[in-house]
Formats: sequence, C-alpha cells, structure tokens
Amino acid sequence: MPVPEAVLPDLDQVLHDVADYARPYAVDGHVADYIPVLAESDPGRFGMAAVELDGTEHTVGEVDEPFPIQSISKVFSLVLAMQKADAAEGVADELWSRVGREPSGDPFNSLVQLEHESGIPRNPMINAGALIVDDVLLDHCEDSLHSTLELLETLTGEPVEVDKQVLDSEQGAAHRNRAMANLMASFGNLRHPSDEVVDAYTRACAISMTTRQLARTTRFLANDGVEPDTGKRILSPAHSKRVAAIMFTCGTYDAAGEFAFQVGLPCKSGVAGGIISLVPRHLGVCVWSPPLDTAGNSLAGRVALRRFVERCDLSIV
Ligand code: GLN
Repeated sequence: MPVPEAVLPDLDQVLHDVADYARPYAVDGHVADYIPVLAESDPGRFGMAAVELDGTEHTVGEVDEPFPIQSISKVFSLVLAMQKADAAEGVADELWSRVGREPSGDPFNSLVQLEHESGIPRNPMINAGALIVDDVLLDHCEDSLHSTLELLETLTGEPVEVDKQVLDSEQGAAHRNRAMANLMASFGNLRHPSDEVVDAYTRACAISMTTRQLARTTRFLANDGVEPDTGKRILSPAHSKRVAAIMFTCGTYDAAGEFAFQVGLPCKSGVAGGIISLVPRHLGVCVWSPPLDTAGNSLAGRVALRRFVERCDLSIV
C-alpha cells in the first residue's frame, strides 16, 4: 500500500538540506585511480535525484552531468538475466548454480575468496559474480551491450551510450578482472573465452549516465517490476523483489552491513562515485560524489543517503 502523500516531506527541501550536510564529507574520500581516467574525476562534484513513481523529479546539484556507471551496471546485467529467467525455464537454476546470493565480506575485486570457493563467486554484485552473469548473457543475448542500452533507454526515456575514453582506459587496466575470469575458467565456471566475457563486462561498466537518469532506472524495482511511466513490465514481481534484495545485501560490497545499518535501503554503488537506491512503492534515487571510502563506495553518497532516509523516515527496516 502506498504511504499517504501527506507523510512525505517536501523532497526538494530535503534534498537541498541533505546536499549541504553531505557534501563536506567528500574531502575524506579518494577518487578511484586504478582506472586511469577515473583518477581525473573532479572530487567536488555532487548530485542527488529522487524520482517519484508518478514521474515527479526532485533534484539538487549536478544531476545532468554524465559519469561512468561502473558497477551500477551489475544491476542491469542481473535484470537482463532475470528477464531471460522470466522467459525460459532453467535459466535461473543455471545462473544460481554458478553464482551465489550471499554477501562477500570481501572487496569487490578480491580473488582470495574465489580461490577458496572453487570459482563460484559469492554474489552478482561483485566483479567475479558480474562476470558470470555476463557469461550467461552471452548465451542468451545476441549483443548484451545492445540489450543493456535498450533496457536503460526504456527505463530513462532517453538515449544512453558507452563512453569510449572510459572503455579504453578500463580495458587497459582490467588485469584483476582478467585474472578472475581465468581463475573461474580454470574451475570450469566460464563457458565463453575469458577475453570475451571481460570485454562484455567492461563495456557495461563504461556506460555513461547522469544522476537524474539513474534515479529513474530503479523506479520499476520500487513498483513490483513495472516501469511506471509506460506501464511496461520489466520483470516479474518475484524477480524484481529478488534484484532489490541482492542490492540490499550485496550492492555495497563489504560495507553492505554498514549500509543496511545506516541507510536501510537497497543500494548499488560504482567506483565513479554513483550510488543508486530505491524506496519501495515511492522513489527511485541516485546520488553521485566521486570520492570513495575504503570499501569503494561514495563517501558523501553514503552520508547523503543516510541523511535522506532519516529526514524522510522511509527506510525499509
Ligand atoms: N569497472 C570496475 C572494475 O571492474 C567496476 C568496479 C566498481 O564499480 N566497483 O573494477
């Protein structure tokens, strides 16, 4: 049941207060530098958007500035895989036999756990898990990048593209991802050549979007799998709930417990400083601030989400 309109505070006012409060925290973070182009990010950037199911948009800061979505793409790859699972029996069983659904408690690009756990990644929100999802998609999509861009265009109502400069930079720095893919191949958990899988993964990470667009993308997850502007069903209610559940438990890597404690909403972060989130039955949300904490999540972004939830009293827990 939707919460009555009257209990929602003035979201424009809230976002401005949240931005004033959270922005200063960015000085304690560090922009990602293991992907050379990201090292050039301006640490002072900040944007936050909350979009209601009826399309009303509330924003503060630089919400129309594009940035690479990075690991936020893991959500959309999982959504595509879940669409395939909605359409054909056996896809979900195959996927969940090759990737788990538990928080990792390890950094997003760690190889250690993968070795101990015989090449089965803990979940699809860490790099190794996303590589498995991409490997599955190679069997089910003619062109998984094209399908991802199409999905994002449906969810935002706008064209979405890959940033070629980011892609080049990232391809040159994908050593750990290649190592993970090869390690999983050595355990028999990769069906396609590792280069092909890493390529598909890297392209999705290099998709460029704005904070406003990203806030629109999660509204279908807040709406039982239906994109609210068009009424188009993106996922079955069961799979929509599960994608949100995995974001909640695994979307912020080894800080997922802290995010649950502080924010209490499904979230997914990327190393360019974006975090998408959602308030079930109400809002799609995105915040962007490039400096990261030690777990690789936007520092001011986490503070902003915590403050937002406190101000709106909308956490799911
Ligand atoms: N492209 C990045 C990588 O593979 C994505 C990581 C992230 O956003 N956490 O390392």
